[in-house]
Amino acid sequence: MPRKYFIETFGCQMNVHDSERLAGLLDQAGYEAAVAPNEADLVVINTCSVRERAEDRLYTELGQVAENASGRRPIVAVTGCVAQQEGSALLRRGRRVDLVVGTQALARLPEMVADLEHSRPERVDINPYDNVSFPFGVTKRSDPVKASVTIIEGCNDFCAFCVVPYTRGHERMRPSGEIVDEVRLAASQGHREIQLLGQIVNHYAAPDRPDCDFAALLELVHEVPGVERIRFASPHPRHVTTRMIGAMQALPKVCRHLHLPVQSGSTDVLARMRRRHTREDYLALVERIRTAMPDIALSTDVIVGFPGETAQDFEDTLSLVKTVGYHSMFSFKYSERPNTLATQRLPDDVLAADKTSRIVELQNTQKGIQEGLHRQQVGHEVEVLVDSTSRRRESELAGRTPGNTVVNFEATQSLLGQLVRVRITDSGPYSLRGELAQRVG
Ligand code: SF4
Repeated sequence: MPRKYFIETFGCQMNVHDSERLAGLLDQAGYEAAVAPNEADLVVINTCSVRERAEDRLYTELGQVAENASGRRPIVAVTGCVAQQEGSALLRRGRRVDLVVGTQALARLPEMVADLEHSRPERVDINPYDNVSFPFGVTKRSDPVKASVTIIEGCNDFCAFCVVPYTRGHERMRPSGEIVDEVRLAASQGHREIQLLGQIVNHYAAPDRPDCDFAALLELVHEVPGVERIRFASPHPRHVTTRMIGAMQALPKVCRHLHLPVQSGSTDVLARMRRRHTREDYLALVERIRTAMPDIALSTDVIVGFPGETAQDFEDTLSLVKTVGYHSMFSFKYSERPNTLATQRLPDDVLAADKTSRIVELQNTQKGIQEGLHRQQVGHEVEVLVDSTSRRRESELAGRTPGNTVVNFEATQSLLGQLVRVRITDSGPYSLRGELAQRVG
């Protein structure tokens, strides 16, 4: 009987995609997916260290594996950013952990499991590997409509609050030929939306084609038959070029949505964060983008309570948020992360109560902005790529507009994966509701 694996994934889109790659590698090695951890011979916990208490979540998860696996002890592998950060310390502290596989060594997991079973244990690999190629056709995609395709691994920017350069290593570009081949395969398998992934996705420069920057890569992906929509995450404001704006404007499959992380509206805080852009640079960029594409939806990330953030700095963030009018936002209270420059050099000196009151005010402000933007859509028709059954009602489907807003509407399951037009009848702060107007393609 084939051995079974179960993968638990925490964190960002990149981690979700790494789990798809791991699943493909394990299938290739003769494993089968289990529906629950207590059925598995191998449990993989793919960790994230961006959010607070990532290690606590890992230990909770490990405890549950121990409880569930009565009678049969699965091999437990920890992968991802916490694995990369903690290395062999995880073997000592987490008695349930058998293997620790860093972010750059994922492809070695099946080999390390086999070695462990043959008593030749190499239990930790957190080495850097420069090769970012991935075996063609192995990724096991979990979403039938959208396909993530990695174009860059790692980051060289070392923003003061961020662990990524320490956990995912220095920036490495994937060859454009390999990216386009993967996009072709995904499109031929029915994936209609391609999501290009990289820590600074718009810093792309193809190692196999000197003339291919991010804008040129968008053009190459745009040419692939079967691709209906193209998205990308996450760009950095300082790498948004005139060519990139021009490509977004000219290529109809590129969604009119741009996630543009600002982090703070105060130039002083941005300097301490080492973001390499000012408030003024950012607002000027937003104006350039909106001049080229007036209908573009913008979203962002904001950290409140970064070391040294004053009440005035926070007011600057609030005023920037109101000025830009984002369609959505991820916001976080600052907390220290292991190894980062901020943890080493800047005291975490904003009171916890101030962080809480600021994030509440920020989120309430953003909620009001979203309510207003969504209300403007009522009575209009929008294009929706249907990607799932609605979370609220089984009789409803859900999808996203090009601007990335969720739309729920009554329809039959046969429309899953289709592009449709929906007339918006109602709106809330986090989604729209509507009725089917027309099928597009
Ligand atoms: S650009 Fe900054 S925030 Fe983004 S991954 Fe790199 S270091 Fe982290």
